[in-house]
Amino acid sequence: MTLTVWAYSESGQVASEVAAAAQSLAGTGKGDAVEVMVGAMSDAGPRLPNALVLRGMSASENTPESTAEAICRATSKGMPSVILVGSTRNGREVAARVAARLGTGCISDASKLTLEGESLIGERSAFAGKVTAKVVAPIPCVATVKVGTYPAAGKTTANSVSEMDVGGFSPKVKVLKTIRKDARSVNLNSAKIIVSAGRGVKKKEDLAIVESLAKSLGGAVGCSRPLSSDLGWLPEEHHIGLTGVTVKPELYLAVGISGQLQHIAGMKDSKVVAAINTDKDAPIFQAADYGIVGDLYQVIPAIEEIVRRRS
Ligand SMILES: Cc1cc2nc3c(=O)[nH]c(=O)nc-3n(C[C@H](O)[C@H](O)[C@H](O)COP(=O)(O)OP(=O)(O)OC[C@H]3O[C@@H](n4cnc5c(N)ncnc54)[C@H](O)[C@@H]3O)c2cc1C
Repeated sequence: MTLTVWAYSESGQVASEVAAAAQSLAGTGKGDAVEVMVGAMSDAGPRLPNALVLRGMSASENTPESTAEAICRATSKGMPSVILVGSTRNGREVAARVAARLGTGCISDASKLTLEGESLIGERSAFAGKVTAKVVAPIPCVATVKVGTYPAAGKTTANSVSEMDVGGFSPKVKVLKTIRKDARSVNLNSAKIIVSAGRGVKKKEDLAIVESLAKSLGGAVGCSRPLSSDLGWLPEEHHIGLTGVTVKPELYLAVGISGQLQHIAGMKDSKVVAAINTDKDAPIFQAADYGIVGDLYQVIPAIEEIVRRRS
């Protein structure tokens, strides 16, 4: 069997990570990795030496439904062994649709992918990170790659770019309006320092002190789920954990976060973890390399003062 791995993501940074996953998988199986782009070559250019550009769907139809349709139609010219999709919101929907249409298995949110005989093995975190499950899917199959788990592949000069016209498409879902994300949106995956706020922050206005500390450290602001999903104080992109973003910065500073399993699942691979919490028994201290038992309203200004004096 000649192994062919397709890599797709609608998001630039994630596309680089999926490309790296495809390259690694294809490398072990002595096969080919192909970057699939829908609609047009991405502005960043290809990340893999082989690229396949699928044309025919208009930009306004660029929904998970139409993307899945385009990818499925492309397989008519030759079924790849594995189709890898970035595990973004859109990507998860694309992967599920492609797998259902092609009648294959789908491994979701894999943080490590390997081959075993004629099967793909995907490792994924389960039970809030307490165990790692190994999921087996016979090839051909689809898998989504967990964001932030593969180092991004750099740009490459594609030595083979094929184009395929996948034809027109009448979607059942039409995009009526596109609303730009909140200007404060961040890409936490690329942040080296993250200062993350939890319910220890008493009111929305007080996030300013967390934002100020993040700024003085040259970092980004993250948060626990209640702050984004329940209180709506920060956009969803800031929420770290099982149901949010997985991050592994050089420094993760948890401020007023208790450290429940669901939160830890998203930041446990950070290089250095520090926490500020008034409760000395807060579980976050078990996941932290450094801990300050204290009131964030006093500790943060003190840290900022030290940073200011040193810079
Ligand atoms: C299915 C499911 C999925 C979930 N997914 C996620 C997820 O992805 N991410 C996530 O974060 N949560 C997730 N949760 C929620 C999670 O279980 C916790 O409820 C949540 O993480 C708690 O957020 P918190 O630590 O900010 O708040 P709390 O648990 O209320 O903790 C607040 C902390 O602040 C401390 N504190 C209070 N005042 C101060 C002060 N002045 N200075 C310093 N410290 C102070 C307190 O001692 C306390 O430890 C999920 C839950 C479920 C059921």
